[in-house]
Amino acid sequence: MSIEDADWPALDRRHVWHPYSAIDSPLPTYPVVSAQGVRLRLADGRELIDGMSSWWCAIHGYNHPEMNRALKEQIDTLAHVMFGGLTHEPAVALATRLVELTPDSLETVFFADSGSVAVEVALKMAIQYWQAKGQPGKQRFVTVRNGYHGDTFGAMSVCDPVNGMHASFSGALVQQYFAETPSCSFGAPCNAKEMNSLRTLLVEHHSHIAALILEPVVQGAGGMRFYSADYVKKARELCDEYGVLLILDEIATGFGRTGRLFACEHAGIAPDILCLGKALTGGYLSLAATLSSANIAHTIGQGKPGLFMHGPTFMANPMACTAGLTSLRLLLESPWQERVTDIAQRLESGLAPCRAYDHVADVRVLGAIGVVELNRPVDMITVQPRFVDAGVWIRPFGKLVYLMPPFIINERDLETLTSAVIDVVSEM
Ligand SMILES: *Cc1c(COP(=O)(O)O)cnc(C)c1O
Repeated sequence: MSIEDADWPALDRRHVWHPYSAIDSPLPTYPVVSAQGVRLRLADGRELIDGMSSWWCAIHGYNHPEMNRALKEQIDTLAHVMFGGLTHEPAVALATRLVELTPDSLETVFFADSGSVAVEVALKMAIQYWQAKGQPGKQRFVTVRNGYHGDTFGAMSVCDPVNGMHASFSGALVQQYFAETPSCSFGAPCNAKEMNSLRTLLVEHHSHIAALILEPVVQGAGGMRFYSADYVKKARELCDEYGVLLILDEIATGFGRTGRLFACEHAGIAPDILCLGKALTGGYLSLAATLSSANIAHTIGQGKPGLFMHGPTFMANPMACTAGLTSLRLLLESPWQERVTDIAQRLESGLAPCRAYDHVADVRVLGAIGVVELNRPVDMITVQPRFVDAGVWIRPFGKLVYLMPPFIINERDLETLTSAVIDVVSEM
């Protein structure tokens, strides 16, 4: 089928679900036919500068020659094979690389096909670890408000209970423990009072709690909030004090977005379990990974049933692993730190004029993430076409208009993005 054959968008409206959307939604959905560098090309020939990196993923931009070459070679060698009882070089090489790059204590890698599943795997690992240690009562989780960890049931249960999906599914979700959202800002220390909510929950419920799960430093889809690395450090100490594992969800923050390769580096701590996804394959294919310490892996192996009970059909898909290896090589060979620092400075100066508007509650930047928070929800029906008319792809949610461009974006294109945000926000 080509665009000429039929009314593409009408068929899309009738048959195809989109994320957080309704069939027959009045919101426009734009057909993309190709992409190159930081530009998406629409079916009508218009080009949009991508301010979203396809939801944190496309850090090297689109249609990258080296990514394409590596994947073409891999498809002619081994596109897929089951991972039960079999292994292959792309998986072993990527796992080894991830173990090298992440904190020292992380030794083992479980590959899954999406971030949500990587979170499910992390939660299950934590429960199986305590079971193997003879503490089967530790099956619940503690987290902080405003978090987002994915859309599957276990992951949903640790998303923010108000702005997450709890309202629709409360009867079907396990009740977890929610500490207040961290109130200490990025760069500032966290005092005992600011840790109190988390400490209290751990004091009272640690015998039922398997792990604390946190997005370190940046809370993504739960509100694009930045908070103190000192909170993460002190949370690590509390976990050790109360015999609770620490799971860090770096699915959004991993691979340089916050200015460090992994956001836990801001806090100088290591989790017991680490979830990675999104930018792992540079936006080419769906892949996620759950890393754990050797202690957790070996304890699970020595307990009952002696196996870790999870195994996705497409586990460690060789194409996806090759994309991950190539993306990591491109990232580490590039001056990504300077690029992210430069993007941060330009986002800061480019978005600063938004602070002048009464309907803007906050403007904040951390690494290659720029956020304009309004004091009311964005009217997507008018705003989305305005951004497209301005030649940019920016997808607000709730009260948030935000940018997280590919790291390869140049000064001019970034300026076009920030100017479009100012223009559209000023008209709201
Ligand atoms: C996107 C995201 C997830 C879920 O990943 P999917 O690949 O969409 O399932 C989980 N945690 C965080 C922090 C995320 O940003």
